[in-house]
Amino acid sequence: MMRRASIPLRIGKVTIGGKAPIAVQSMAKTDTQDIQATINQIKELEECGCEIVRLAVPNKEAAKSISAIKKSVSLPLVADIHFDYRLALAVLEAGVDGLRLNPGNIRDREQIAKIVVAAKEKEIPIRIGVNAGSLPPDFEPDTPLAERMVDMAVEQTRFMESLDFNLIKVSLKAFDVPTTIKAYQMIADKIPYPLHLGITEAGLPQAGAIRSAIGIGILLYQGIGDTIRISLTTHPCEEVSAAYEILKSLGLRQRGPTLVSCPSCGRAEVDVIKLAEAVNDHLRKITQPIKVAVMGCVVNGPGEAKDADVGIACGKDKGAIFRKGKIIGTVSEENFLAALIAEINKEL
Ligand code: SF4
Repeated sequence: MMRRASIPLRIGKVTIGGKAPIAVQSMAKTDTQDIQATINQIKELEECGCEIVRLAVPNKEAAKSISAIKKSVSLPLVADIHFDYRLALAVLEAGVDGLRLNPGNIRDREQIAKIVVAAKEKEIPIRIGVNAGSLPPDFEPDTPLAERMVDMAVEQTRFMESLDFNLIKVSLKAFDVPTTIKAYQMIADKIPYPLHLGITEAGLPQAGAIRSAIGIGILLYQGIGDTIRISLTTHPCEEVSAAYEILKSLGLRQRGPTLVSCPSCGRAEVDVIKLAEAVNDHLRKITQPIKVAVMGCVVNGPGEAKDADVGIACGKDKGAIFRKGKIIGTVSEENFLAALIAEINKEL
């Protein structure tokens, strides 16, 4: 997998682009004016592996909250700004680590220039965050959507470059997966800056994670993308978990356990689904990378999961515990979970 070359930049302590690992982002779902609730959620996000958090800044009060929030958290904060350039200036003063501007709703060049000058002085990166849903209707109305998104991002990029500013990151998000893929593929060769990938408003956890995995996964496999956010209608830690599953599936990041579990079939003589769910609940508490297999029968179990660190292949009333595909012992059915957990703990 050859990764697209991009100019690295730093958002707080995190490097985005270049050879840096693909960074995982999310967005707080609290009211930014509720300082304590927002701090609590950022801390939760940090614990579940999020590396950069975006906060909505819809008004002056939210902008004012940023400095207090910033003092109590260690994750880099990106302020999400729409419509009012003065909010961007306020959060820069408040010490934010990055800005996200929507070029679809801040169109005045003088206002954009004021933000860029202030960001340049503080060396704060700006994400040009194009969203399909907020393109101005009069912007290239006869051009296909993916091209319109790219043209808007490139136009904004060139304007920022003309102000001698290059701490730029770009995103081109749409709900439609093929449109999103096409837009990112098109811009990948046009600009040298890091790309933040996402499928916007992807939906509830299952459908949203699948949509995101297809869109983001295809791009990452093509070497496109430096940071990702999975937009799901649920707690943001679920977004982070889905992001790592995508990155782990492509071998791009390792964090936390990977569960290999068979789907079960008529050959299984135990409730594989129940056992796999119980093992998964236990694995949620672990942050080290470990591959664990739960297989419904001994016929295919160890062989199919031979690269798992530990696993169980269940049979009638008893199960074979294996490591790296080799059976190391058998346990009775009532001890399946406990035995597997004991083996997992030995590996950590
Ligand atoms: Fe069926 Fe065994 Fe395969 Fe599970 S591992 S799906 S029980 S054949």
